[in-house]
Amino acid sequence: MPEREDEKGEIEFGHLEIPPPPIQDKAYLTHRRWMMRALELAEFAGKSGEVPVGAVVVGPDNTLLAEAANRRESDHDPAAHAEILALRAAGRILNRWRLHDCTLYVTLEPCPMCAGAIIQARLGLLVYGADDPKTGAIRSVLNLPDGAASNHRLPVLGGILESVCRQQLQAWFRRYRR
Ligand SMILES: [Zn+2]
Repeated sequence: MPEREDEKGEIEFGHLEIPPPPIQDKAYLTHRRWMMRALELAEFAGKSGEVPVGAVVVGPDNTLLAEAANRRESDHDPAAHAEILALRAAGRILNRWRLHDCTLYVTLEPCPMCAGAIIQARLGLLVYGADDPKTGAIRSVLNLPDGAASNHRLPVLGGILESVCRQQLQAWFRRYRR
């Protein structure tokens, strides 16, 4: 979100162990960099009482289009998941709803609502961090993109910085939802 832009880079990742990159592949390092930004956004959200999930939409030339974090509590909006907010913002910037040339990075496997929006956006690539064994609708509980109601073949890359994304959520739940 734009209002958080000025805080970029100041986030404390003290409680998270960021492992060194396992490979020096250029594409992997790019995915990792954007996921780090999504983790930062999630961290801000967690500190304001939201479940920490962050999302970033990157355009075809690997430039940042939109970023968002979960805002359900702040907005009193059941649909204010990070992915929905980021997809909407990207659509506004591009003046179109088709995001076939965009990549969405999100720290947690999307839920059914967000997976539905991702399919509707005809997203070019979904990259996510941790699997969600409770509501994950990409592969963990459901596979909506490959399901009968999907009209879009969605390329998916899961598990980027998976352990960090999982740790962040687990730490937050330990602290706020005992
Ligand atoms: Zn969602």
